[in-house]
Amino acid sequence: MFFTEILVRKLSSSVGISLVNSDEQTVDDLLKFADTAMYQAKKEGRNTTRFYQEQMDQWIKKRIFLENGLRHAIENNELELYYQPVIEIESQKIVGAEALLRWNHPELGIVMPDDMISIAEESGLIVPIGEWVLREACAQFVRWRCKQTSKVHLQRIAINVSAVQFRQSDFVDRVIRIVAETGIVPCMLELELTESTVIDKIDTVIDKMSRLRNAGISISMDDFGTGYSSLAYLKRLPFTTLKIDKSFVRDIMSDKDDAALVQTILSIASIFHLEVIAEGVEELDQYLFLRDHHCHYFQGYLCSKPVQVGSFEELLAHDIQRCQALY
Ligand code: C2E
Ligand code: MG
Ligand code: MG
Repeated sequence: MFFTEILVRKLSSSVGISLVNSDEQTVDDLLKFADTAMYQAKKEGRNTTRFYQEQMDQWIKKRIFLENGLRHAIENNELELYYQPVIEIESQKIVGAEALLRWNHPELGIVMPDDMISIAEESGLIVPIGEWVLREACAQFVRWRCKQTSKVHLQRIAINVSAVQFRQSDFVDRVIRIVAETGIVPCMLELELTESTVIDKIDTVIDKMSRLRNAGISISMDDFGTGYSSLAYLKRLPFTTLKIDKSFVRDIMSDKDDAALVQTILSIASIFHLEVIAEGVEELDQYLFLRDHHCHYFQGYLCSKPVQVGSFEELLAHDIQRCQALY
């Protein structure tokens, strides 16, 4: 007999639904389909409902394939950090770098963060991976500083921290241990947090951030303007730097609203005594706008994409570290 029933799988507020439409389907099949639909719902931004469709199987298989690979990526030496220069606008010099994760997958080639960070977060793998990133980037920065001549001005290494990583109860202790182990000067380390990381459990967040700041470590708010944090949060949280999201910078010359937004962010930062880094600067006009409005630093393809260690060293050595595109 042909009949239809609904099986619903729910995790937090993402709902996956599979319909029973054949006598041959077992309960296990239905649970699997509902799980698949639930993962799809989560992928599409949570708080959503999705019905199972056959093509979702492909997606879930790829996800499991990536998760299994990621489990061994550290021990197999498949993770690599690329570095993107941070340029001080006043001096036009490279004064820092942001470490950005790449996974050299044996079959797929380079896997980008957008295709792996969420898998790493959902599986908990982001904790060992994040610790590897922190140790590797700090150690690399110390090597650069040791080689540094008086003409090189590298002062800061920025590292992205996931919300899952930050919420670990021993996160601050782990960071402080890595700082001691690698010998990095704490004020040269900048941790990047996003708004979504800091809006939950504000008192615990303030406590952790204050401990990091007391240890001398800088903290920036990444992708500023894309989340929901209010000015009241900005007042309470001990950030040192705001990073203007590249989505605002992109149309700065053609969209008056974006130009006004960037100017507003720069004013807010000035009131709160925060440094500002503009992300995603690709055009000379965007750079000139930011310079004229007293933005302190920028990152973007105008100077360089994120590059491997060797290429970053070439950028540093090149003409006493000035960003070529600017003159
Ligand atoms: P993010 O921290 O905001 O990093 C900036 C992203 O913008 C990077 O993408 C960078 O390659 C890209 N970008 C830089 N300049 C330009 C430009 O001029 N134009 C355009 N269109 N893009 C530019 P990527 O490397 O793919 O990283 C994406 C995101 O993944 C990062 O955004 C960060 O949130 C996350 N991520 C990267 N590495 C790590 C990591 O080690 N740990 C964690 N937790 N997250 C990471
Ligand atoms: Mg970042
Ligand atoms: Mg960003």
